Amino acid sequence: MSDFPPPAVGRQVPVRHALTLPSPGPVPFSVEFMPPRDDAAEERLLRAAEAFHDLGASFASVTYGAGGSSRDRTLRIAERVSREPLTTLVHLTLVGHTVPELREILRAYLDRGLTNLLVLRGDPPGDPLGDWTPMEDGLSYASELIEFIRAEEEFADFEIGIASFPEGHFRAPDLESDTRYTLAKLRAGAEYSITQMFFDVDHYLRLRDRLAAADPEHGSKPIIPGLMPITSMRSVRRQLELSGSVLPAALDERLTRAAAGDEEANRDEIRKVGIEVTTEMAERLISEGVPGIHFMTLNFARATQEVLHNLGMAPAWGTGQDMLRGGF
Ligand SMILES: Cc1cc2nc3c(=O)[nH]c(=O)nc-3n(C[C@H](O)[C@H](O)[C@H](O)COP(=O)(O)OP(=O)(O)OC[C@H]3O[C@@H](n4cnc5c(N)ncnc54)[C@H](O)[C@@H]3O)c2cc1C
Repeated sequence: MSDFPPPAVGRQVPVRHALTLPSPGPVPFSVEFMPPRDDAAEERLLRAAEAFHDLGASFASVTYGAGGSSRDRTLRIAERVSREPLTTLVHLTLVGHTVPELREILRAYLDRGLTNLLVLRGDPPGDPLGDWTPMEDGLSYASELIEFIRAEEEFADFEIGIASFPEGHFRAPDLESDTRYTLAKLRAGAEYSITQMFFDVDHYLRLRDRLAAADPEHGSKPIIPGLMPITSMRSVRRQLELSGSVLPAALDERLTRAAAGDEEANRDEIRKVGIEVTTEMAERLISEGVPGIHFMTLNFARATQEVLHNLGMAPAWGTGQDMLRGGF
C-alpha cells in the first residue's frame, strides 16, 4: 500500500507519489521535454510522449523558456502531455515576470490541474551566463517563489520540486554556499530535487552526502539524478556550456577516440559510446539506491529507450516497436 492518499479529482499524482508506483525496472524513470518551436517538432514530441507513456514513465516534465516567451507553449504542451496520460511536472522560472504575473501563471497551471511544479530561477535572457538582474516587482531566487507559493492558501495543491547541482551551481561561490541555498529551497517547502545533468556519478553521491549531513530532515528529501544520453559532440558541448558541468577526462578520451578526428563521419560511434556511458552511470546510480532517473530527452525517444533497454527496462529499439504507439 502506498503512503499517499489519492490525489483530488482534476489534480496530478504528486511526483513523490509517482516515484513509489510500480515501474518497469528497479527504479522508476521519468523524462524531460522542451516546448517545441514548430508543428513538426511538436508532432515528434507528442509521439515521444506516447512512446514514454507506453514504456511506463513515472512522469514527464516540461521546461519553461527564457524571458517568459514559452509561457503559453509550456502550458499548452504540459496540458497535452498530461492527457497522454502522463503525470506531468511543469517548470516555472522567475525570468521576466513580476509577482502578479507569476501569480497569474500559477493560477493558469492550477486551472488545468497541473499541480506538479518545478520552481526555478532561470537564467538571464540573451546570455544565460550573463549577470542576473531581477525585474522591478520580481523575485531574485527560486526560494522566494517557493515561500510566496507556500504562503498562499489558493496554491496549497502544488507539490514543489527544485533544481540541485551535483557540481555546485556555476554562480555559487563554493559548494558550502551551494548546499546552503539548496537547503533553503527544501526548507521553504520543496519536496524533492532534480539534478542538473552530470557525467560523473561521484558528483551526485557527494551532493547527496552534503545535503544529508547539513540537514538530515530536509537534506534527505529525494534527489532525482538527471542524465542526458550523449548522441553527438555538438549537443554535449552546448549542454555543458549551459549547465556548467564538466566532462570527466576518461569520458572525454572515450568520445575523442570514437570521433577519430571526424565527428560527422563517426557520429554513430560517438552515439554508441554515449549510450554505453549513460547505461553505466544509470547502473551505478541504481545500485546506489536513487529514487528514480530523469532523462533529458531533447524530445527524442530513441536514445533514452536504448538506455532503458540496456537496463532491462524496455524492449529493444526497432524490435517490437510497433507495440508502442510512438513506434518510429
Ligand atoms: C532539473 C533542472 C531543470 C531546469 N529547467 C529549466 C527551465 O525549465 N527553464 C530554464 O530557464 N532553466 C531551467 N533550468 C536551469 C536553471 O534555471 C538555472 O540553472 C539557474 O541558473 C538556476 O536556477 P535555480 O532555480 O537553481 O536558482 P536559485 O536556487 O535561485 O539559485 C540561483 C543562484 O543564486 C544562488 N543563490 C540562491 N539563493 C541565494 C541567496 N539567498 N543569496 C545569494 N545567492 C543565492 C545559487 O547558489 C545560484 O548560484 C533547470 C535546471 C535544472 C537542474
